[in-house]
Amino acid sequence: MNDAIAVGFESVPCDYCGSAAAHRVFQGPDRLLGLPGVFTVVRCAQCGLLRQDPRPTAESIGLYYPSSYEPYSAAIDDERSRLTRASRRYGMTKRRRAIERLVRSGQLLDVGSATGNFLHEMKRSGNWEVEGVEPNLEAATHAEERLGLTVHRGDLCAVSLPTARYDVVTMWNVIEHLHAPMVNLREVARLLKDNGVFVFSIPNLRSWEARRFGPYWMGWELPRHLYYPSQEAMAAMLDEVGLEMLHWDCLLGAYPSFLLTLRFRLQALAPDAWWVRAILALCGSAPMQVAAIPVFGLLTRVRKASLITGFARRRNR
Ligand SMILES: [Zn+2]
Repeated sequence: MNDAIAVGFESVPCDYCGSAAAHRVFQGPDRLLGLPGVFTVVRCAQCGLLRQDPRPTAESIGLYYPSSYEPYSAAIDDERSRLTRASRRYGMTKRRRAIERLVRSGQLLDVGSATGNFLHEMKRSGNWEVEGVEPNLEAATHAEERLGLTVHRGDLCAVSLPTARYDVVTMWNVIEHLHAPMVNLREVARLLKDNGVFVFSIPNLRSWEARRFGPYWMGWELPRHLYYPSQEAMAAMLDEVGLEMLHWDCLLGAYPSFLLTLRFRLQALAPDAWWVRAILALCGSAPMQVAAIPVFGLLTRVRKASLITGFARRRNR
């Protein structure tokens, strides 16, 4: 186990309630990248929050983020398929519109800004002054040099930004990757102005895929995902730091998530079979993606897609 990569593992208590007591939920491999190891998801015996335990330490987790890791790769303009470019752009526009329904303009900080696609969309709308925070140096450099963005390099708690500076803070698919979500959420609350808005997306434990595909669901993404808050757990964690949950919405692509889950399920049945490759190629083809729009659009409308976005507001100090 874990013999091909020299990884340090640790067992830590629940970051929300502090209890070390937990029940095992399931074990699984790194289905996305195929890096070695078997990893365990547990449920906190006291508060019910799901987490990975034991887990790679903060010092060693980088071994599980090669530069090919998807969020660090292609800028939208570099996507080869026109359909993918259009669909990724549309995704960014949907994020902007959802935010602008709550706040029209102002200072925005994107935590985990990766190659800067979302910040770029916000900046070019003309309504926003934007900054990013990104620990991956290659991704941060890309955002600065290709897109002319300001990116603070490092972890949110280490970059020391000014108190009450931002109207909006965003964290797209970041919270589940954090070793210590609570200190990061506290930092978000410190950085937001009173009544400022926090927007974040997380894997949706209530999604159709999580329920239908169990351990093969893409949302587990072991070992890079460390916490799996439910919507109730997230609301409690935010309340603790002075943020009030407003509403939930599904904004992010439901079909690309389904393709990943389908790949994990089929590859577990027959890793190198021709028919698995054929089904995946068919489902990934442009006509199938278009044909899937009504079904996955419905999943999105009833908030059962694999990723869910939460909107919360900073209480007055
Ligand atoms: Zn707990």
